[in-house]
Amino acid sequence: MRILKIQTLRGPNYWSIRRHKLIVMRLDLENLAETPSNQISGFYEGLVEALPSLEGHYCSPGCRGGFLMRVREGTMMGHIVEHVALELQELAGMQVGFGRTRETATPGIYQVVIEYLNEEAGRYASRAAVRICQSIVDRGRYPKAELEQDIQDLKDCWRDASLGPSTEAIVKEAQRRGIPWMPLSARFLIQVGYGVHQKRMQATMTDNTGILGVELACDKEATKRILANSGVPVPKGTVINFLDDLEEAIDYVGGYPIVIKPLDGNHGRGITIDIRNWDDAEAAYHSARQVSRSIIVERYYVGRDHRVLVVDGKVVAVAERVPAHVVGDGKLTIAELVEETNNDPNRGEGHDNVLTKIELDRTSYQLLERQGYTINTVLGKGQICYLRATANLSTGGIAVDRTDEIHPENIWLAQRVVKIIGLDIAGLDVVTTDISRPLREMDGVIVEVNAAPGFRMHVAPSVGIPRNVAGAVMDMLFPNEKPSRIPILSVTGTNGKTTTTRLLAHIYKQTGQIVGYTTTDGTYIGDFLVEAGDNTGPQSAHLILQDPTVEVAVLESARGGILRSGLGFEFANVGVVLNVAADHLGIGDIDTIEQLANLKSVVAEAVFPDGYAVLNADDYRVAAMAEKTKANIAYFTMNPDSELVQRHIQKGGVAAVYENGYLSIVKGDWTHRIEKAESIPLTMSGKAPFMIANALAASLAAFVQNVTIEQIRAGLRSFRASVSQTPGRMNLFNLGKYHALVDYAHNPASYQALGSFVRNWTSGQRIGVVGGPGDRRDEDFVTLGKLAAEIFDYIIVKEDDDTRGRPRGSGSDLIVQGITQTKANCRYESILDETQAINKGLDMAPDGSLVVILPESVSRAIRLIKVRGVQEEPVSQP
Ligand code: ATP
Ligand code: ATP
Ligand code: MG
Ligand code: MG
Repeated sequence: MRILKIQTLRGPNYWSIRRHKLIVMRLDLENLAETPSNQISGFYEGLVEALPSLEGHYCSPGCRGGFLMRVREGTMMGHIVEHVALELQELAGMQVGFGRTRETATPGIYQVVIEYLNEEAGRYASRAAVRICQSIVDRGRYPKAELEQDIQDLKDCWRDASLGPSTEAIVKEAQRRGIPWMPLSARFLIQVGYGVHQKRMQATMTDNTGILGVELACDKEATKRILANSGVPVPKGTVINFLDDLEEAIDYVGGYPIVIKPLDGNHGRGITIDIRNWDDAEAAYHSARQVSRSIIVERYYVGRDHRVLVVDGKVVAVAERVPAHVVGDGKLTIAELVEETNNDPNRGEGHDNVLTKIELDRTSYQLLERQGYTINTVLGKGQICYLRATANLSTGGIAVDRTDEIHPENIWLAQRVVKIIGLDIAGLDVVTTDISRPLREMDGVIVEVNAAPGFRMHVAPSVGIPRNVAGAVMDMLFPNEKPSRIPILSVTGTNGKTTTTRLLAHIYKQTGQIVGYTTTDGTYIGDFLVEAGDNTGPQSAHLILQDPTVEVAVLESARGGILRSGLGFEFANVGVVLNVAADHLGIGDIDTIEQLANLKSVVAEAVFPDGYAVLNADDYRVAAMAEKTKANIAYFTMNPDSELVQRHIQKGGVAAVYENGYLSIVKGDWTHRIEKAESIPLTMSGKAPFMIANALAASLAAFVQNVTIEQIRAGLRSFRASVSQTPGRMNLFNLGKYHALVDYAHNPASYQALGSFVRNWTSGQRIGVVGGPGDRRDEDFVTLGKLAAEIFDYIIVKEDDDTRGRPRGSGSDLIVQGITQTKANCRYESILDETQAINKGLDMAPDGSLVVILPESVSRAIRLIKVRGVQEEPVSQP
């Protein structure tokens, strides 16, 4: 077996609209192409031995053991690789269920599609699956140690990629609310919402979190001073910079017991609490000094440690944090109890799990000593031994939810404190013996205010009810259903995507909103180019959706991008499909026009149920997409008598129709005429029917988004793409006595479209300078010749400078074949050199004629025309 290609899909795609995270592996089965699993001796047994848990895969038989049954009876290796890749991820703790295997047009080559949660893990699992299957084929087994290593590697990928617990809670809540989110490329920033409505988060800081509040909270001493001046109970304490001042500081706070901590520390680093003698104080001083230059000396307050979480001015959760400890059972030693506690699968390293493993270090030993224990002490039943003085979860502590117990006065105090410090999200560390009684009564204190507090202890407390604190954050960022999304209009089709996208963006601009749009020419925001290039893939979509100024996104979605990585968004509000015609067949395992239609249909299907699929009623493959999408349907048609559209309108549907020379929206009993085709420059005085179709599609897409008829009209009237903006797209030049047109129509459907315009040229002769790229099929050249014979009065056949491997003269011969087959008396000549051919066409042009050039080099063709003196500022349309 040989892997030919691995692609990672990240959005709605050819294989699934709903499953966005898929690996597509192109796999050559080589010598296994004709050998189903039952004909490979020992394969079934080897597979079951390596991965007994495959028993859990139902597969087509629909029951436990179903898949293994198929392996025993005989199935192709691609299918087995699929299941193995899924199972490897399952074994590493990633739940994935979706897979597909399909043979391509090339015998023996398969596409294996596998769901993933983590991209890297998905790719790894795909490769490993091939390796494992190959090993079992060759040797009847796959070494257990290797498999364990594979699974460990997969676990590592998963862990490295996982978000922190707080971020995780936030994005989950966003997802639950249908609010889109995406990671940004730096500083662990997360974007929630799109475009102008987006908010940013970094852990539990938002773009509402002020820098002044954060800096104040990070300075424990300043925080205490500000709070003390506001009458808030805080620990009595002082800051020192030298060991010499320690004694005086201890006196100042009223003697032992004391706490020593670094001025700017966190996660409990460098803190020693409940210090009762000089030696310990000195040691504590040095340990704090490792973290910070300045040292806080405080009175030690007896009590339990609480975290009060305040979001948007309200207390949303309270947790008591209990320091790392073990409880005796009369049998095990402290060391053994710690080991047992750490075996809890909920305990992981650092922050990557609900709880953290307990580590025995210097502080633990000191504490043990103070309690009169060693690690070998056997604790009595129910006896508690603390192994940490501070209660940080990251040092093995646990959390107990106390949200329902906090006293109203403490709620009031906490909310006031957070206002004073100036934070939208804050965690207060409160030491008191009983949180259900007022702090003042209990001699409790607010030890610290934390910016960016962790959510872990609230969303997953060890004891008590989990609290949806991320919900409070979302309520703050997107109050009262404040929009989080911007409208997305996505445009696909074989021909006319860029034109329609630009026009639609232009129409939308009439509403005064800032439109971000992507096309094959580049990415634009408002009136400006952001980035030139073929920008029709998901990355360009992301650029627009991440831009904080964009109010509407119009995205050209070409086949290449959908195939390579899926759409760059989950759902659009409007998905436009213009047409499906043969082009690029045979690339990317899209071999038939039906497959191409399925691919384009992704754009119609990835639309919100209350959005619209705007479909071409005159193209049956496009019209058929209505069956596949859950969205509302809006049709556009050049044929006012279209039965499909008539029926649709009678059922209350909306359509855009070309009728009696007008572009009109038909809805219910009413026909809203937008504009005469003749008055729309894009349609070349109404002579280019395919441009009318594009304009209908754009108008309809805008209309279903509540853009008014007046705004649509204004857009249609004023849309002009200059030659410099869209070189090679119906660029018409007025040369005084005659006109020249440059277009890079490059497939039969666009030749047809071009022909429909040329046929409407009635003022004089129609001369064609034609040729095609050498890598097209022979029959495409013949078709071009046939079409040319139907369209032109005189044809000059030329070839590209770069024939892409085709022998010189062969392409032109095929075109001539097509010409003579269609019209025996057609006037033509062959001039293989493009420059000579173009010049010949222009030289011979009689008055009133039109010279149509399909060039290899658009810029050269335009240059050759311009030297002849173009009459006015060249625009694509007259
Ligand atoms: P974190 O980052 O987890 O909030 P930190 O390093 O910022 O910790 P503090 O919050 O100042 O440190 O202290 C950690 C814990 O130590 C407190 O939650 C509290 O349990 C205890 N503590 C700190 N100061 C005192 C004090 N003066 N009296 C009693 N306990 C204290
Ligand atoms: P690409 O796949 O190169 O990005 P596109 O789909 O974006 O192309 P445009 O750039 O808008 O298409 O138009 C390219 C050419 O296709 C035009 O110059 C014209 O010849 C032809 N064309 C435009 N619209 C249509 C249409 N609706 N039907 C058929 N041909 C069209
Ligand atoms: Mg703290
Ligand atoms: Mg394009």
